[in-house]
Amino acid sequence: MTAPLIEARDIAVRFGGLVAVAGVSLTIQPGDICCIVGPNGAGKSTFFNVLTGTVKPTSGEIRLGGEDFTGRPIHAFARNGVARKFQVPSVFPSLSVADNLRVAQRRGADEMALADVLDLLGLTQDAERPAGILAHGQKQWLEIGMALATEPKVLLLDEPTAGMGPEETQRTVRLIREIGSRSAVAVIEHDMEFVRALGVRTLVLHQGRVIAEGSFEVVASDERVRDVYLGRG
Ligand code: ADP
Ligand code: MG
Repeated sequence: MTAPLIEARDIAVRFGGLVAVAGVSLTIQPGDICCIVGPNGAGKSTFFNVLTGTVKPTSGEIRLGGEDFTGRPIHAFARNGVARKFQVPSVFPSLSVADNLRVAQRRGADEMALADVLDLLGLTQDAERPAGILAHGQKQWLEIGMALATEPKVLLLDEPTAGMGPEETQRTVRLIREIGSRSAVAVIEHDMEFVRALGVRTLVLHQGRVIAEGSFEVVASDERVRDVYLGRG
């Protein structure tokens, strides 16, 4: 039996008096695609920051491949195959699409790998154009590609469909499924429609706690989730 790629146990994060994450556990195995959903301020990004080593948890434990990484620096996480896309896109606007990907690629990665990622993103036609002139959705895909170019074991995406229309969102859902055949993926979202479309194991966070976990059907029919999402609470 192989150890999980990521195992977060009872993670808590406090910022001064504010408890942003209050005891969240998550296990990511090879081949997993999972989704973390919750309203603004639920603690989703902070929890992701713990998974990537950006934020050290106040308490709890984080293991990569069975090894304790709690408190280790961000590059240790990156070297062990954890890649992330931030909530705000940050491509290099004056570089070409292909060069943005080359910057991100692992040393020794070749042009075949580059062509493969461009194809996956649907950006082959745009490879030599400056990234700054891409449409918003394409910039988001390019940034996903930059994380993917590092050939991670786990890719963490923080609100990859932010600002996208329905069509771009559907394409992103397909892209995430395709990425799922290469690396494990965990996606943060606040939109339940996206979660329904993706249809994977989902963790619902509210005020730093997990209030429901399971398939979309299970979490969408949960009373507490309905209260939080339909504003009944
Ligand atoms: P989400 O991504 O679910 O919207 P966040 O993890 O960004 O939620 O934020 C959870 C809570 O923690 C919010 O109340 C937010 O204001 C607070 N928070 C996040 N980052 C910091 C920080 N660096 N310092 C202080 N408070 C923070
Ligand atoms: Mg967030």
